[in-house]
Amino acid sequence: MLLKDKISIVTGAAVGIGAGVAELFAQHGAKVFLVDIDGPGCEAAAERIRSSGGSAVALQADVSNREQVKASVDHVLASAGRIDVLVNNAGIYPRQDFLSLTEAEWDQMQNINLKSIFHWCQLVLPAMIARRSGKIVNMSSVTVFKGTERLSHYVSTKAGMIGLSRSIAREVGAHNVHINCITPGAIKTEGEAVVHTDPRVLADLQAAQCLDRRLLPPDVAGPCLFLASALSDGMTGQTLNVDGGLVMH
Ligand code: NAD
Repeated sequence: MLLKDKISIVTGAAVGIGAGVAELFAQHGAKVFLVDIDGPGCEAAAERIRSSGGSAVALQADVSNREQVKASVDHVLASAGRIDVLVNNAGIYPRQDFLSLTEAEWDQMQNINLKSIFHWCQLVLPAMIARRSGKIVNMSSVTVFKGTERLSHYVSTKAGMIGLSRSIAREVGAHNVHINCITPGAIKTEGEAVVHTDPRVLADLQAAQCLDRRLLPPDVAGPCLFLASALSDGMTGQTLNVDGGLVMH
């Protein structure tokens, strides 16, 4: 019970890594608020947690919309009184050649994957600072260490997230608020299934890892639980790589 009674927000929690994080947090005693643009999917994920005895509330919101983020934060604070943990996990990763990338595609990626972190952190941090307690985990990507073709707009958001987290860590550390990143490798999720339809690509990704198996959402949820719990109280501004041994640095 590493998060007993901890009020936790997980974005992008309808499916994939976010759903896995929400489920594990609930198993560890957290009261989880699942946020997703997919309202019915988010409610279904919350219901699965509740039917297993956990505490979960679904909130529909687009993380790139500041008013909707603020409404979610206000709802959690009004109903639970505080926010102990925030996991910024929602994200998109459509492929596009750099030279064909439109400004609209660039802006959409920045707004959903990076500007959303600005919204969430700025709106949640005052409550954490006031209580001198808080944990934020931002879901980056292993692609920042190696670069990835046709994902320049995505990788720029995931690298930006690390710089943003390090800088915020320096501003809020004195208030006992922690902010760290995770860089997942290739994780088998609903979103990945849409992007990688060629089984040979997935086989190559697995072959490039040390571990000879596909990683699944629970493989990321465990390290996320660590960063959200008191076990990591000595860590902030750090980036934890979870990729089955794909890159070492
Ligand atoms: P996924 O597509 O399976 O799930 C993403 C969830 O985010 C969905 O429920 C979706 O509805 C939600 N979402 C998307 N846009 C949103 C918005 N504007 N507002 C609110 N919710 C929104 O994705 P995943 O594979 O589980 O990835 C989750 C996170 O992990 C992403 O940030 C992704 O970049 C990162 N990541 C994934 C992998 C991987 O291999 N799967 C690797 C590295 C990093």
